[in-house]
Amino acid sequence: MLEVNGLRVSYGGIQAVRGISFHVNEGEMVALIGANGAGKSSTLRALARLLDPAGGNVRYRGKELLGLPPHGLVAEGIELVPEGRGVFPRMTSIENLRMGAYARHDKAAIEGDLEQVLEHFPRLKERAQQVAGTLSGGEQQMLAIGRALMSRPRLMLLDEPSMGLAPIMVQKIFEVIRAVAAEGMTILLVEQNAKLALEVSQRGYVMESGEITITDESRKLLADPKVRAAYLGE
Ligand code: ATP
Repeated sequence: MLEVNGLRVSYGGIQAVRGISFHVNEGEMVALIGANGAGKSSTLRALARLLDPAGGNVRYRGKELLGLPPHGLVAEGIELVPEGRGVFPRMTSIENLRMGAYARHDKAAIEGDLEQVLEHFPRLKERAQQVAGTLSGGEQQMLAIGRALMSRPRLMLLDEPSMGLAPIMVQKIFEVIRAVAAEGMTILLVEQNAKLALEVSQRGYVMESGEITITDESRKLLADPKVRAAYLGE
């Protein structure tokens, strides 16, 4: 579904992503792991067209993604859930979720999806009328994922969903990510919490200093001594 070839991202003189190649098959969850500053977020931001890459190409469902305008991504079914969440702080939880469906016209299905998202996240149901800016970090993360789901994406790009959250929140959020993936969603997951990311994904890529250094099935990466030593704290 997504095929990235030789992607490069530079910030002035700094090369953050140095010509990486990877792919995500339809219906698959793929993890991109690596230490702070490895270039994971830069990769996602380039895919989401939030920045212009210095080189490479990205094919998405047979089309060249980098040729599309950034606002064209929603129509293509690509949803980024950014690091730091990015909910609309003055809108309520429900209003945020409805915003996720702004480009859709199938009213009845939207209501059904809203119900389903609130079932995934009972916490948001309780806080439906609360303005998003006053939700806890974990609740905002749930809301950001819920809002992305409301657009019925084909491909979700998740940037560090565990970032800054208490373990119990992380566990809840990952339960939902797992459930959404089990329903057939295609997901590219960027995570510093390598253990968690590899436990929920089918395949993984390890990024180091802007390059992909190891790739394999996630269960094999979890057993790989090098990965264990460098990323699983063993
Ligand atoms: P983290 O988990 O800490 O977010 P990451 O793997 O996502 O790390 P990136 O955020 O992609 O890494 O950063 C890769 C490199 O690019 C880092 O050295 C970072 O300092 C640099 N970088 C990122 N954004 C910018 C920017 N806007 N301007 C300059 N340098 C940047």
